[in-house]
Amino acid sequence: MKYKRVLLKLSGESLMGERQYGIDNNQVLQYAQDIKNVHEAGVEIAVVVGGGNIFRGLSAEKSGMERAQADYMGMLATVINCMALQNALESVGVETRLQSAIKMEQICEPYIRRRAMHHLEVGKIVIFGAGTGNPYFTTDTAASLRAIEIKADVVLKGTRVDGIYTADPEKDPTATRYDEISFQEVYAKGLNVMDMTAITLCHENKLPIIVFDMNKEGNFMKIAQGEQIGTLVK
Ligand code: UDP
Repeated sequence: MKYKRVLLKLSGESLMGERQYGIDNNQVLQYAQDIKNVHEAGVEIAVVVGGGNIFRGLSAEKSGMERAQADYMGMLATVINCMALQNALESVGVETRLQSAIKMEQICEPYIRRRAMHHLEVGKIVIFGAGTGNPYFTTDTAASLRAIEIKADVVLKGTRVDGIYTADPEKDPTATRYDEISFQEVYAKGLNVMDMTAITLCHENKLPIIVFDMNKEGNFMKIAQGEQIGTLVK
């Protein structure tokens, strides 16, 4: 295995599968199975899950809500998704711990860095909920931050596209995919990889990012084995 410890970021939207809103249990189950396979191959895995399939602070602000209030709602949405993933992982026989950046003691542990690292060391999968716990941030930033904190080798951004393109491949048929790109190029070209805060955190802490298509079964395993899939940012 190429990596010892990885931080996998799943967007809320990825949990929708073919649906327009909410959670597709079959999709979540497929992710759980992929995560289990990589875990059984000996990789320590922490997961940050987004909330955009349920609630996004920025969109709510556009329709009149106060931003901070809406962002806290977004963070709660991420916890709902985390619970769905936790349930799916446990249904396939993987031991997990859910840690939230906002205390919810009846349903999960609070985020405690050292405890999270211990869980990983003893073979549990740790799911991080409620983003960074702060409004005006995103779960991409939470993924970068947690990855640095727990000393992960890489941030794996699992999405529905198979990497970073020169332009949006859904709008521009001439767009081509990068196999590898530097942080400098991401800044210079204004590429939409993760938000700038998340990118900067990774850059400053020399943490590589791989953007890949998590919806293709087995891709996560290929990445963990070091196969060239998706786009590597370093
Ligand atoms: N959010 C936040 N602080 C964080 C992480 C998330 O306020 O540290 C809120 C924000 O409103 C965001 C929502 O939670 O819109 C859902 O997270 P995100 O949009 O990052 O989810 P994704 O796009 O990955 O589904």
